[in-house]
Amino acid sequence: MRLNNKKPNDRVAVALVLCFCVVAIASIFTMRSNFSQLDLDSDDNINIAQKEDQQKEDFEQNVVNPIPTVDSTTSKPDAADDQVKDDRKSTTSFKVPLEGQISKQFSVEVPIYSPTLDQYVVHTGIDIQAPADTQVLAAGDGTVTKVYNDDKYGFTIEISHGDGIVTKYSNLSTTKMVEEGDVVKKGQTISGVGSSALFESLEAPHLHFEVLKDGVAIDPSDYIR
Ligand SMILES: [Zn+2]
Repeated sequence: MRLNNKKPNDRVAVALVLCFCVVAIASIFTMRSNFSQLDLDSDDNINIAQKEDQQKEDFEQNVVNPIPTVDSTTSKPDAADDQVKDDRKSTTSFKVPLEGQISKQFSVEVPIYSPTLDQYVVHTGIDIQAPADTQVLAAGDGTVTKVYNDDKYGFTIEISHGDGIVTKYSNLSTTKMVEEGDVVKKGQTISGVGSSALFESLEAPHLHFEVLKDGVAIDPSDYIR
């Protein structure tokens, strides 16, 4: 009877042990996988830390990189300044072709009122007022390239100074002072103040003076010293 009674108890005990073993093994596997997950997490943390460091380095490199461009940009204005200086050098020899008051400024972007035309028009030169027949002088050394009677601006003389720069004198009293092909010196008399410009005939006697760079009218005020 005892044996018979013991046998079921032993079976239960064995079953309990087996169950315990299964649970123990299962828990070990679970813990291992958790540990490996933790390892992976720690690896990820390291990777993230490394990435952050890399990003920091990249950022620092990005911050460092622009510094040479700062040097290059500081050198650019110098080059621009040199260009401006060169331009000034080439124009410092220009002198006022006529002493007098500027009665109309250069204005190619904003139209200004023309009493003669009774409308607002652009003005591609400056008007210097002076009594009729006051001597008009060459602004610089050069060659007279054109002498003609312009439909709008009357008696006109053009002088080429090289480097694509041409001075243009209009509303003159006569074209007989110099001729095409003449080599003129700075300050040499080329004509006199008149009222021959149809477009400015209602305005007091004056010289309509233009400076052209490569055929484009520019402000003579910037070129006269
Ligand atoms: Zn004018």
